[in-house]
Amino acid sequence: MTAPAASRQQLAHLTRQIEELKERGTYFRLRVLEDEQAAVCTYDGKRVINLASNNYLGLTNHPKLREAAIDAIRKYGVGSGAVRTIAGTMRIHMELEEKIARFKNVEACVVFQSGFTANAGTVSSILGKGDFILSDELNHASIIDGARLSGAKIKVFRHKDVAHAEELLQEIENEPGHKLVITDGVFSMDGDIGPVDRLAALAEKYGAIMMVDDAHASGVLGRNGRGTVDHFGCHGRVDLQVGTLSKAIGSLGGYVCGSRDLIDYLYHRARPFLFSTSHPPSVAASCIAAFDLLEEEPERIERLWENTRYFKEQLGAAGFDIGGVTTPASETPITPIILGDGKKTMEFSRALFDAGLMATGIAFPTVPEGKARIRTIMTSEHTREQIDASLEILSGTAKRMGLLS
Ligand SMILES: *Cc1c(COP(=O)(O)O)cnc(C)c1O
Repeated sequence: MTAPAASRQQLAHLTRQIEELKERGTYFRLRVLEDEQAAVCTYDGKRVINLASNNYLGLTNHPKLREAAIDAIRKYGVGSGAVRTIAGTMRIHMELEEKIARFKNVEACVVFQSGFTANAGTVSSILGKGDFILSDELNHASIIDGARLSGAKIKVFRHKDVAHAEELLQEIENEPGHKLVITDGVFSMDGDIGPVDRLAALAEKYGAIMMVDDAHASGVLGRNGRGTVDHFGCHGRVDLQVGTLSKAIGSLGGYVCGSRDLIDYLYHRARPFLFSTSHPPSVAASCIAAFDLLEEEPERIERLWENTRYFKEQLGAAGFDIGGVTTPASETPITPIILGDGKKTMEFSRALFDAGLMATGIAFPTVPEGKARIRTIMTSEHTREQIDASLEILSGTAKRMGLLS
């Protein structure tokens, strides 16, 4: 056996950038999970309370989802063998799409391999050159990539600033192109809720298409986790609702809900749908089981919100900056603890880990320079003792490091 090839001169510019990250203190190693994704689990050999996962409802390892996946593997094997449009549409893929469409009370639904491809594939296919995209400045990277791929003109409005979005729409009022207004339903780094209802009204006024990315709202907001459109009661006024199957739903995937024609169009034009293999049947099966659970066990969502309220209250009382002054306050189970400095934030995150708490440090370029933070996510599965222990670790470590008086 020969040793693996070392980097060659051709990639030296990448090595230099890695060195730069190390100098800035924002270089990270991947933490490796050694058991199940859960409220308490083992990363890198250490038992920690986990405030970093999107497993809002504890569904990643729910017995019913497991069973559904295993059954599907027994019946249908482990792969679909093709892209959806060639030979890879299995009955179970159709069942999942029909189930989600009924759940969301829309005509139709298409499932993509991930939330990322749902956004990027959809935005890039429904608009083109000569069209316009009005996008919140904090929208998810997959929206930004989709917008760039579309070739449309991108106009960015200030975070949640509906008046600014209107100004931008007025500027292009007489342009012939199609217009799309797009916002995250819940913003993933700040945990605040997008003004979906007011943006939908604005889109209507200017004849624009309205789209919402409910990745962090799916299974979390609205009746039984139906998302922000349900939360705001603006059914029928949002043309495209994107959701994810990878967070609260506990498995993997993304979907777009809307009219039958929209979904047919995406079947024909969305590139990740056309050019990338569909989910293994086990993924579709566990997602179907998850939607059943959202209806059968609504107490999970209630527990999630109870835990969220308690944790936020206590964090605020401990003196942490959890947004609300310089950034909009979180209204969801995502609570940022804002420290500002990237390097300090990463040190704090490492110290928390050593003290038994998994809470990810997030710095530039994921969030703006000077807005580095520890991002915490509450789940329905955290016990009161685990939450209290987390708060103690957070306060104790912050005080020791001089980050909290
Ligand atoms: C996580 C996330 C996505 C991507 O979803 P995946 O299913 O993980 O690919 C898209 N949009 C937002 C706002 C997200 O937070």
